[in-house]
Amino acid sequence: MNVIQKLDTRQADTTPVNRNTFDEVMVPTYAPSAVVPVRALGLDLWDQDGKRYLDFTAGIAVTGLGHANPEIVEALRIQAEKLWHVGNGYTNEPVLRLALALTEATFADRAFFCNSGAEANEAAFKLARKYAYGKFGPSKTRIVSCVNSFHGRTLFTVSVGGQAKYTEGFAPLPPDISHIAFNDIEAARAAISDDVCAVVVEPVQGEGGVVPATPAYLKALRELCDTTGALLIFDEVQCGMGRTGDLFAYMGFGVTPDILTIAKALGNGYPVGAMLTTDAIASAFSVGAHGTTFGGNPLAAAVALKVLQTINTPDFLARVKHASTLLMQAMQAIRAEYSHVFSEVRGSGLMLGMVLTEAYAGRAKEISKAAETHGLMVLIAGPDVVRLLPALIVSDVQIDEAHRLLRRALNAFLATSK
Ligand SMILES: *Cc1c(COP(=O)(O)O)cnc(C)c1O
Repeated sequence: MNVIQKLDTRQADTTPVNRNTFDEVMVPTYAPSAVVPVRALGLDLWDQDGKRYLDFTAGIAVTGLGHANPEIVEALRIQAEKLWHVGNGYTNEPVLRLALALTEATFADRAFFCNSGAEANEAAFKLARKYAYGKFGPSKTRIVSCVNSFHGRTLFTVSVGGQAKYTEGFAPLPPDISHIAFNDIEAARAAISDDVCAVVVEPVQGEGGVVPATPAYLKALRELCDTTGALLIFDEVQCGMGRTGDLFAYMGFGVTPDILTIAKALGNGYPVGAMLTTDAIASAFSVGAHGTTFGGNPLAAAVALKVLQTINTPDFLARVKHASTLLMQAMQAIRAEYSHVFSEVRGSGLMLGMVLTEAYAGRAKEISKAAETHGLMVLIAGPDVVRLLPALIVSDVQIDEAHRLLRRALNAFLATSK
């Protein structure tokens, strides 16, 4: 804002702002839509002009229980009036209850809390290095990850991630990281040797195009880690918390990792992440080995506990599977009707990717724009995949509406394209 103060801070909360303001004052790391959302409830969202949208993005797999979910709002409000923050010199009741609930619900014995998916993975990679260092000495340091994987935007996590465009210009990068083709068992066999401390994989790749792992692949990774002493890390930041119809995707695959990282939907929009692991591995992090100011603060923990309680019931997860079947049928109908546009619908649970044909390669963004114009918010996963991530509470009627809106959007897109 320059040396001269242009704006009276006392009026800052009512200053008129719009999409152009973004271009004036934000570091240009994003290119957000012209639509500026101001209010939302469930899967309905309204912009500054009062136009309504059906949200099939859930804020990128975050608001799994819908926007402004009354029970989550209430959990936040109750905790907000009690205790927000104490710092790591003290623990607090909500975080202890959350850790008990998460370890009860999973293979894990221990939890570390942070504020994002990248931080959960950063903690996991550091823990894997430290564990191997203590158990095997200084030469077991290599981390193996998959091409097209996404693990966050810190320097370590972009380096482990399998998309070169995200590390361009940031060298020197942390060394000792290898990338192998996803779902390629032979490549895994060739890469995972005794110098590997960790293998990290998304059970369903999200940003990389919505690609589920094959059960055989995850089983092979488990075996290779067992024989080499490497830790198997599942990044379920996007596919966890009920998204696949199981509480965590690993449960559906029947393959148990050594470390599980979660975030996104854990707080339904309140920033919180976690790294879950076993007693034996957690003990490699002694007092002072790792930390964060906000991680596990009472507000985040109270919200996450309510989210977990809501999702982790047989009825809720069965309903997700039912909705998944309906959404898959609707999108398969679209693929059949627009077979020149879409070649495949893939994914798991309520995490679907519609893959463009060669004729329409690179045009996912145009289709998502057309959908937005017609009142349906969808995502892309790379230039060739339209990605759907509705809130887990999506109703049959809303799936029907998304089907209708997407058809309208595709008709408009095809009428004006070429
Ligand atoms: C979003 C995502 C991350 C990064 O999470 P942030 O909260 O943005 O740091 C990591 N891994 C996967 C699989 C993700 O989808």
